[in-house]
Amino acid sequence: MKEISVVAPFYNESESMDAFFKTLVPILKKAKLSFEIVCVNDGSKDDTLEKLIKFKKKHPQIKIVNFSRNFGKDAALTAGLDFAEGECVVPIDSDLQDPPELILDMIKKWKEGFDVVLAKRTDRSEDTLTKRATAGLFYKVYNMLSEPKLPENVGDFRLMDRKVVDAVKLLPERKRFMKGLFAFAGFKTAIVEYKRPERKAGASKWSYFKLFNYAIDGITSFSAFPLRISTYFGLLVTALAFARGVWILFRAIFCGIDVPGYASLIVAILFLGGVQLISLGIIGEYVGRIYVESKNRPLYIVKDVI
Ligand code: UDP
Ligand code: MG
Repeated sequence: MKEISVVAPFYNESESMDAFFKTLVPILKKAKLSFEIVCVNDGSKDDTLEKLIKFKKKHPQIKIVNFSRNFGKDAALTAGLDFAEGECVVPIDSDLQDPPELILDMIKKWKEGFDVVLAKRTDRSEDTLTKRATAGLFYKVYNMLSEPKLPENVGDFRLMDRKVVDAVKLLPERKRFMKGLFAFAGFKTAIVEYKRPERKAGASKWSYFKLFNYAIDGITSFSAFPLRISTYFGLLVTALAFARGVWILFRAIFCGIDVPGYASLIVAILFLGGVQLISLGIIGEYVGRIYVESKNRPLYIVKDVI
């Protein structure tokens, strides 16, 4: 059994790989712990796999889990946790945006008795204004609606003790919002801070559209509150409609009947139509989730372990 497992997902990361291992391996050696590096090749289309195999010849501590196709980062992380054998596990991005030096600080905290050591980004000045604003909004909305709360500006980069990893592995859901699952596990937590550097090579795989969908997945994974919004709204609109009905009735009785009202009528119809569509969409989100979960498909398919 190894003392520490580093789990790194790779999706078309051939360009950044040299720098990654060159930084990571000396740091792990410096930590003076027995280690393994679980590299999950998430269906890369470039020569990531070939290069990983080449690196394994030089560093026998590397274990390669090769997916049959691209399953996404969360699936890759899940596989990494499944294959990791260490007493503690550190998931890390393979593009060097999670600085490996931090692992030494994390190990120190772990040895002090913390079960989880989070890496928290101190400033996001490298990010664009829109990215910062949308990320901030996401955490606000998420934490308002969901339990347990997510710590802000904390990604997947962290150290977890074996018992935390085993707890996360107990969560069987198909749609895996890893941050939420990690938070769900709990345990005694410490934080180390860092400044997230820019990507060294290649490009991020996230577009704003993907991020938006990810945010919806995250919230609907950990909160049923959106379903209740339509209930509240329905109650409010019903109450207003009732009051208005009473008002119209009184007016008809005491002042006679008048015809005008096209504008208010069409506004009410369009508005309610919109509300109904949104409510349907929200229900659809959850029904879709039930559908995905009920199929019970595997989270990932491993082609080979090298
Ligand atoms: N990644 C993956 N599968 C994917 C997309 C990304 O395994 O489908 C890996 C990628 O190789 C990297 C990490 O996940 O190690 C983070 O990806 P990226 O840098 O694109 O995300 P960002 O840093 O912009 O959040
Ligand atoms: Mg990145």
